[in-house]
Amino acid sequence: MREDLFAEVAVMGAALNKSLHYSVPEGLGAGLLPGSRVRVELGKRLAAGIVLSIGSAIPELPRGVNIRPILDSIDKVPAIPSDLLQLCFWLSNYYFYPLGEVFDLVIPLRASEPIGAAPKRRRAKAAVGHDPGEKEDQKPEELELTADQAAALEEILPFTKTPAFAPFVLYGVTGSGKTEVYMRLMEKAAQSGYGSILLVPEIGISAQMETIFRKRFGDRLGVWHSAISEGERKRSWADIRSGAKKIVLGARSAVLTPVQDLRLIIVDEEHDTSYKQDDHLRYNARDVALMRAKIVGGPVIMGSATPSIQTVHRAAKNLYRLVSLPARILNRPMPSVEVVDMRREGGRRKMFSFRLREAIGETIACGQQALLFLNRRGYSKYYLCNTCGHALQCESCSVTLTYHKEDDRLRCHFCGWERQLPDRCPVCGHAALFPRGFGTEKVEKELRKLFPQARLVRVDRDTMSSRRRLVNALDEVRSGKADILLGTQMVSKGHDFPNMTLVGVINADAGLQAADFRAGETLVQLLIQVAGRAGRGEEPGRVIVQTFNPDHFTIESALRLDYDGFCQEELKSREGLQYPPFSRLLKLLVTSGDEGAAVSGARLLAALCRERAEGFRKGGGSVAVLGPSPASFVKLKNRFRWQLFVKTWTSPDMQDFVQAVLEDVRKEPSFRAVQITVDRDPSSEA
Ligand code: ADP
Ligand code: ZN
Repeated sequence: MREDLFAEVAVMGAALNKSLHYSVPEGLGAGLLPGSRVRVELGKRLAAGIVLSIGSAIPELPRGVNIRPILDSIDKVPAIPSDLLQLCFWLSNYYFYPLGEVFDLVIPLRASEPIGAAPKRRRAKAAVGHDPGEKEDQKPEELELTADQAAALEEILPFTKTPAFAPFVLYGVTGSGKTEVYMRLMEKAAQSGYGSILLVPEIGISAQMETIFRKRFGDRLGVWHSAISEGERKRSWADIRSGAKKIVLGARSAVLTPVQDLRLIIVDEEHDTSYKQDDHLRYNARDVALMRAKIVGGPVIMGSATPSIQTVHRAAKNLYRLVSLPARILNRPMPSVEVVDMRREGGRRKMFSFRLREAIGETIACGQQALLFLNRRGYSKYYLCNTCGHALQCESCSVTLTYHKEDDRLRCHFCGWERQLPDRCPVCGHAALFPRGFGTEKVEKELRKLFPQARLVRVDRDTMSSRRRLVNALDEVRSGKADILLGTQMVSKGHDFPNMTLVGVINADAGLQAADFRAGETLVQLLIQVAGRAGRGEEPGRVIVQTFNPDHFTIESALRLDYDGFCQEELKSREGLQYPPFSRLLKLLVTSGDEGAAVSGARLLAALCRERAEGFRKGGGSVAVLGPSPASFVKLKNRFRWQLFVKTWTSPDMQDFVQAVLEDVRKEPSFRAVQITVDRDPSSEA
């Protein structure tokens, strides 16, 4: 006689905040495990769900509700292995996101489509110029490790053998050969039967990188990024789930793949902002990697030439082990950095100083390549004083004010403080405040005028409509078919162009004006990364930085390539203002198609938060509520957006406080007119 069994199921494709109970029919019980995908009825429709737990205790159901049976199980093995299931619980909890929808994101299959159902496709010759699979059986070329690389490996390797969480920061200057260290670690893990994941920023997986990894790992490698087709994605996922592929190279969401015997996770360029997903489940893949490594018990390596302030802070507190690669491969010199003070160049609209123009001419004349970089991240309008270079700032936050044209106001997107546009600069008193900004398109036009013979490739979001175009453009540059590469952040990091000897930063100041307390951090990282593209081959590199703020601390640090010095000062200032990493932030975004509803929804939510906060503090917790204020894009896709911030000093405080707030929100019918999005550890405070 078999006991009656019941299963707790998270239904997929439904924004339910709770799991449901079903009975387990006889004959199904044996194969069913937590993580199994099952077909169930939800109301009158059929749905897929994930079994969370199975037991014989009779679940308590609301009066009048009869328990329904699970219809059948979809796969032969649980779709979600147990370590990943645990991670999904954490994701749902930490990011306040319905569990069923977490599963929707983790499993790339349609509701009742079994794993491995996608037909095998003949390997088509790519029009990713070449098929990375072609060279699979080539012998890997064995590089002799440098002393630094060998020392780094020696330090990390023992930890791949002990089943314990061990976070490392691999702090290696640009061109120090981090990739080789990653590959050796992954190979060693594979030799011991373990799986591994290497995360790289989305645009970092160049065709070149994929080829290198294919050569090294052949068929054991699974590649995972947004540009692979749906069919490929499903096949790849099935191969990863079955254990056929245990080495995964991928972008952000690769951290959610069901790698078997996972023991090693590497996050390259861990500071990169593209690790943060900006919609749906707003996770940061670096933080998820840490949690996953904690769950599986293994090392996690966060590599960067410019680790995030958060990571630097934790390394300083000995929460992470620090391993350094302080020099470039083969003792190639770091590039020389020169600054051009654009205040002396006359004319705000001038794009090229005499020095940069001359250097571009010299570089292409001797058959080398130049990279010209313009950071357009600060594209929202801001006001800058033409006399002293001051950008208008909030009185109580170290963030730049954003100009709102509709009502002619300057606003702080962090605390909501606002003011009218002043007639004169509050610092120097001159009536010289002007809106600023030009983009790559205008620069391209100018370049074509200045260097009509040069072969120019422009890479930005406007010109690179697809990943294929981007990959092709970068390959063109790498193979010497272009003289000048002009681009935005897309060209700034990760790429290895051996013939690139000149890097020109057209306007280093653009990022300084971003309405975000992290503006300085992001800018230094960007400048150091872009400078790091110069002189990676045999010829030494030269970097020319054009700026109106040569004495600004952030710019100065970048010019000296002094990331440590920057971090020290930045941490002091963050501590003073109690910004992360000295506090925790969470953004509550209130949106509605109706402007009034969004505004009143945000006000109501702020009031509710403040009321809750009072009680919370009495109970011993620490919390601050900031806002509401309009989001930096106050209207997107016809939705009006207002936001507020919750600040706490510990993670559990954030968890408890926001949990309580969201429960209140669910009970309050007025919030039905708006949508509320929770963004924990938001990447931007604007
Ligand atoms: P990083 O990621 O640290 O900026 P890369 O991993 O791209 O640097 O390495 C820079 C260059 O050095 C690459 O072209 C790589 O092939 C080369 N390289 C790495 N390790 C070695 C080595 N031990 N000997 C010779 N060249 C190396
Ligand atoms: Zn402010």
